[in-house]
Amino acid sequence: MGIVSGKGGVGKTTFSVNLGIALNRLGKKTLLIDCNITTPHLAYYLGAEDYFITLNNVFRGEVDEKFAPSSHSGVAFIPASEELRDIVKIDFDRLIKHVNKIAGSRVFDFIILDSAPGLGKEGTSVLRAADEILFVTDPTIPNITDIVRCYEYLHMVRTKRVSIVFNKVREKHFELQFKDAEHFFEAPVLGAIPFDEYIMDSTAQGIPFLNYMPDSPTAKDFIKVAASLAGIQYKKKSSSKVKNIFVKLKKKIRG
Ligand code: ADP
Ligand code: MG
Repeated sequence: MGIVSGKGGVGKTTFSVNLGIALNRLGKKTLLIDCNITTPHLAYYLGAEDYFITLNNVFRGEVDEKFAPSSHSGVAFIPASEELRDIVKIDFDRLIKHVNKIAGSRVFDFIILDSAPGLGKEGTSVLRAADEILFVTDPTIPNITDIVRCYEYLHMVRTKRVSIVFNKVREKHFELQFKDAEHFFEAPVLGAIPFDEYIMDSTAQGIPFLNYMPDSPTAKDFIKVAASLAGIQYKKKSSSKVKNIFVKLKKKIRG
């Protein structure tokens, strides 16, 4: 599944990492791949410092076909190299071949491709490699317009399952509504993540938000989207306080 947008900074990497953790918590084996090879951030957002194999190594054929990706917070991941010298002569078309290979091994329930923004070589390689596209955008006109361009590109290459997630939602009058977006794109809006300064805090500290504030309402919004993608009905966890009251009541009734 490709996590895509027209512009940078809308929250693709944040969303990819937290979606990976949420899917893992829902029992789905997930692999995250940093496909933003020229400006990689995924390992940092995941809080992972120990990794050896990068996507650049994979592209250069330097690793065994069946290598085991590194893992952090229960999620397997393939970062991109942060070494500037590693970005020369990258053949982005290789992504399709490698994603197909990993998907074919059926080890993972989900392979999440964190994309570079826009329709450059990096962005289009994800649009082509993924079997399903999830657009992340804030609900404002300029960002939506850029997604329309990506959407048009998708139609040109191949029709895929497409969905949208709104991020950095502030509930202002100038923001597009769910219904309007669904009508416009003819694709479902799977959920909305609010603008939440604690997300910026978690990024600054290199801790995934779902580990940073696991019980917050915003964390639940990430989990809801993950549940919908995994085809699992999202069940609100009853708070321990409420649970305790029920336990006490039950005891009282039963004497
Ligand atoms: P992209 O991958 O699309 O370039 P990032 O995931 O790197 O975007 O996010 C860019 C910045 O926006 C980061 O500082 C991140 O903490 C912040 N951010 C992401 N989602 C939210 C949100 N829902 N509320 C507030 N800040 C957010
Ligand atoms: Mg990013």
